[in-house]
Amino acid sequence: MIRSANLGFPRIGARRELKKALEAYWKGDGDLTALKTTAADLRAQHWRLQQEAGVDIIPSNDFSLYDQMLDMTAALGAAPPRFAEETAGETESDVDLYFAMARGAPHAPAMEMTKWFDTNYHYIVPEFHEDQTFDATPLKATSEYLEAKGLGIETRPVLIGPVTYLSLGKAKDKGLAPLSLLPRLLPAYAALLRGLKDAGADSVQLDEPILCQDLSPEERAAFAPAYDALRSVGLDIMVATYFDGLRDNLSLAASLPVGGLHIDLVRAPDQIDAALDALDADKTLSLGLVDGRNIWRTDLSAALAVVEKAKAKAKRASDKLHIAPSCSLLHAPIDLDLETKLDSELKSWMAFAKQKLEEIAALTTAANEGRASTSKAFAESDAAAGARKTSKRIHDDAVKVRAAAVTPADIERAHGFDARRPVQRARFDLPPFPTTTIGSFPQTREVRKARAAHKRRELDDAGYEAFLKRETESAVRKQEALGLDVLVHGEFERNDMVEYFGEQLAGFAFTKNGWVQSYGSRCVKPPVIFGDVSRPAPMTVTWSAYAQSLTEKPVKGMLTGPVTILQWSFVRDDQPRAETCKQIALAIRDEAVDLEKAGVAMIQIDEPAFREGLPLRNADRGAYLQWAVECFRLSASGVKDETQIHTHMCYSEFNDIMTSIAALDADVISIETSRSDMELLDAFSDFKYPNEIGPGVWDIHSPRVPSASEMETLLRKAADVIAPDQLWVNPDCGLKTRGWEETEASLKHMTDAARRMREQFA
Ligand code: GLN
Ligand code: ZN
Repeated sequence: MIRSANLGFPRIGARRELKKALEAYWKGDGDLTALKTTAADLRAQHWRLQQEAGVDIIPSNDFSLYDQMLDMTAALGAAPPRFAEETAGETESDVDLYFAMARGAPHAPAMEMTKWFDTNYHYIVPEFHEDQTFDATPLKATSEYLEAKGLGIETRPVLIGPVTYLSLGKAKDKGLAPLSLLPRLLPAYAALLRGLKDAGADSVQLDEPILCQDLSPEERAAFAPAYDALRSVGLDIMVATYFDGLRDNLSLAASLPVGGLHIDLVRAPDQIDAALDALDADKTLSLGLVDGRNIWRTDLSAALAVVEKAKAKAKRASDKLHIAPSCSLLHAPIDLDLETKLDSELKSWMAFAKQKLEEIAALTTAANEGRASTSKAFAESDAAAGARKTSKRIHDDAVKVRAAAVTPADIERAHGFDARRPVQRARFDLPPFPTTTIGSFPQTREVRKARAAHKRRELDDAGYEAFLKRETESAVRKQEALGLDVLVHGEFERNDMVEYFGEQLAGFAFTKNGWVQSYGSRCVKPPVIFGDVSRPAPMTVTWSAYAQSLTEKPVKGMLTGPVTILQWSFVRDDQPRAETCKQIALAIRDEAVDLEKAGVAMIQIDEPAFREGLPLRNADRGAYLQWAVECFRLSASGVKDETQIHTHMCYSEFNDIMTSIAALDADVISIETSRSDMELLDAFSDFKYPNEIGPGVWDIHSPRVPSASEMETLLRKAADVIAPDQLWVNPDCGLKTRGWEETEASLKHMTDAARRMREQFA
């Protein structure tokens, strides 16, 4: 019998119960018992849901109060030394140490957090020291296994695999290679596994997603000793790989002394043949056929064909095959049944985590007993697949014709930067070191209250618009009073930089409860791009034109770039992402042209997600960068030379994508640099970045008000490596999370710093 397996279930709760319980506990409103009760309730509910859906292999220890990597750090006794006080003091329990690592304690800053592969989920980065020790405290995984057992549910515990755990960590001491800690780590891992075995588990899932990346020789070499050491425990180990294909790591993965291998057949459907050939018939192959990263209904007929192939091809007994999601369902929203706002046609094309489990169960039944035994699921799936091919809601011929007609000339400005620059200089007549901000101003309680009231229809359109106009005008006046050179309208009308555009574009839909965990208690609700994208009407022109009408100073129009809109949405899977991005780019291009026509002379196209779209494998990066750059240029190239295009990106790694950043050919780019002490400007200076650049001089992530001298020091550092006449002066990012008080104080210091620079460089 082929069995169905799940790799992980979202933990936040269909109504974000965990989020609420966590935040109450952190605020001191709820006690630890309340938090633990909520957590246990959610686990029980999710295990039962999986059991009822008919999943044979149900995971445990996939639950986490914050993050699964942090869980490993806790389970391995690997808390960084600065948290020692937390363990020694009057702590209520280990939970306080755990949250201190995630969120910081008075004398110990939080551990670093970064994106989990190419997802929008963030994990807490392990920190390793020269004298690092590991010491298994097998509490969590074992107790959750026993908790499920107590409910009558046998589970397969999930842990991060040892090589992925070390590879994703950071050495805090110079010259220390995290992987060199493997011999110290393995006994602790083995002890964790032994704890599970003693509790009664017979199998375990070890996640090794780094097998889907390009591995260093050291990483490759770490796998065999690691799994040799763990096999002796005697648990049936399933090594789970996901987010891409195994490619050149397939033989390595297949040779591990373990019971089974899980492969992602959604991201890498082509690897099925090679995997069937490579994996011995006495090992289990887990087929990741249901997309754990997106919200579309699985084409069950197509998936079943893959299973049939797997059954036929090797002399593998069917009990050596599992049917599973491509990766943990952590990255999918929980339950489509809760969507009351979506119409039934759209819903019939989608599946969230709960529905995905039903798909996995249906596929498994069909694989074992024939598709007639689960004909309803297949009929619905076939209907959705058919409808999505032909639906007029999805396919807009005019959009397709236009996208197909894009020419190389459409992604070029009329002239190069050298020719545009004097035209723009003459037009704007800005001082050296011009000052500006990134777009948003504080989204105060009043702004959020007015938006909510408008949404509930307690505030009518006219009232809301009048309110927004007042906010915008007051922001313009404040910027004038501060002496900023280039103003912004403040983005008060926007809830979110992607949602605001998605709501006005054709081809987008929005869920009510489609929350996905981003980090800790933070969730995001990505828009759904289901069809060809077009712009029925201008989206930002009224607000930008209004703000410009209030002042003599230039006001930058604010647009979100096509790559960022794509990256922060659930994207249709029936055409290449590049194609969808191009359609969005055309809509943004039209918006830029309309802004220009309305008299907006500077337009900023934000691309904060440009870098995170990078594929996991180096071999795929060139192709991505090419279409991403082209889409940005398509959106920015419809305007005349005299219109100044700005872009903004907020992260701190540019070295490896510098060529592409320059190829965007924005007249001005603003970036985050204050926290790196301008170090990342080196990438721009080494590259001899040709256009203008605004390195952030104020870390807007904290309420601290930096002094004018501090900012001046940063600017001088910048002027050491970048020609002063290329430099702009701005904060690291938008100011929507800040309050007005610190905003005005900091901007005052910023304009002072710019003035001092002008005096020195006059
Ligand atoms: N213009 C946006 C803002 O200021 C940019 C946000 C971002 O970079 N994430 O809020
Ligand atoms: Zn930013």
